[in-house]
Amino acid sequence: MQNITLLGSTGSIGESTLNILSQHPDRYRVYALTAYRSVDLLFQQCVRFEPDIAVMLDEQAAEQLKDKLKISGISTEVLSGELALQQVAQEKKVDYVVAAIVGAAGLLPTLAAARAGKHILLANKEALVMSGHLFMSEVETYGATLLPVDSEHNAIWQCLPIGSKQQYHFDGKGIRRIILTASGGPFRDYDLSQLESVTPEQAIAHPNWSMGQKISVDSATMMNKGLEVIEAHWLFGLANEQIDVVLHRQSVIHSMVDYVDGSVLAQMGNPDMRTPIANALAWPERISSGVKPLDLIGVGRLDFDKACHDRFPCLALAYQALQAGGTSTAILNAANEVAVEAFLANRIKFTGIAKIIDNALSAITASDGLNLEQVLEDDMKAREFAMSLIN
Ligand code: NAD
Ligand code: MG
Repeated sequence: MQNITLLGSTGSIGESTLNILSQHPDRYRVYALTAYRSVDLLFQQCVRFEPDIAVMLDEQAAEQLKDKLKISGISTEVLSGELALQQVAQEKKVDYVVAAIVGAAGLLPTLAAARAGKHILLANKEALVMSGHLFMSEVETYGATLLPVDSEHNAIWQCLPIGSKQQYHFDGKGIRRIILTASGGPFRDYDLSQLESVTPEQAIAHPNWSMGQKISVDSATMMNKGLEVIEAHWLFGLANEQIDVVLHRQSVIHSMVDYVDGSVLAQMGNPDMRTPIANALAWPERISSGVKPLDLIGVGRLDFDKACHDRFPCLALAYQALQAGGTSTAILNAANEVAVEAFLANRIKFTGIAKIIDNALSAITASDGLNLEQVLEDDMKAREFAMSLIN
């Protein structure tokens, strides 16, 4: 029986993970669930999974949850605050930590899990984007095991010659490059001139995947693919030039590895996050996930197109930040988080997102990013700068 801490249990990845855990009660037990402040949903999850601990970041929300659980006679202990997130991520009893908090808020608890040598199911790509060098070296130092949940990285993981858990660096293993697939999001067929006036409602209506708001906007700008390029660089130890992106509108091939002998291995499946989550949970075994079998005749065809940087300037900015190195990618990520929030609040245009990030990358001098203080400082500088542009 594996004990699990699920960071961000009320989100899209959190709910998909609980769906799988509920199918395999003989294998997994929930130790802790955490959320920002959605009391009702976390309460329902506590009733269903009876974790030892529930954490709400928000103190008031934690008090409300405590009252509701007491009335229902559920013995789950309720904690609040950022330190409690780290505490449940590093708890001795815990085997697997699912890192599914959205954004920079996921960094410290995920890092705590790494430093406690856990098996980490990594959905929170922002942690690697902010501090890839530091994060990977902590994983190695403390013997943690990183299992990619992001569907593209999980696909690549499945197509790689994995010899042992600790093997993340594939240089010299005959890999020419990896190819990340991207659906292109809801605006892939729009005229460029239409992008000025698209709304948040249109941006979060993803054609193939159902996801949280922030990652849905990131998919529309294709910053999501940019963040994934950076994530792949750190996860697999590949050079920037070895990471390509191709538009693939059906989202059936989740990514590919191109080997020097001309073999290209692809992982396919329906676009449902329960597949990569189940794969990472059970690795190196396989468990059922509840995902429907792939109907190839129904899919009919697989299309591939160039991911054009004119349409998706955020993708170009991500490559640029990766090339610049150090905390450039933390600056990119922080400016993006602030810009996406402003777009969702109707404070800036969709096309303003890339402009804010571009300006932040030019205005803020990056540091080498080898320690956490630098990363957090440059993250803060980028947030303040982006806010000042918006205001
Ligand atoms: P979501 O918005 O649906 O859920 C986010 C979760 O994080 C919620 O439980 C929320 O309560 C919690 N949270 C938010 N802010 C917090 C804070 N400041 N402190 C503590 N907890 C906080 O997001 P999601 O779509 O589930 O995505 C989660 C992560 O997984 C993101 O990093 C995303 O990029 C990544 N990811 C998601 C998908 C997907 O299909 N949804 C696919 C690949 C990767
Ligand atoms: Mg992805």
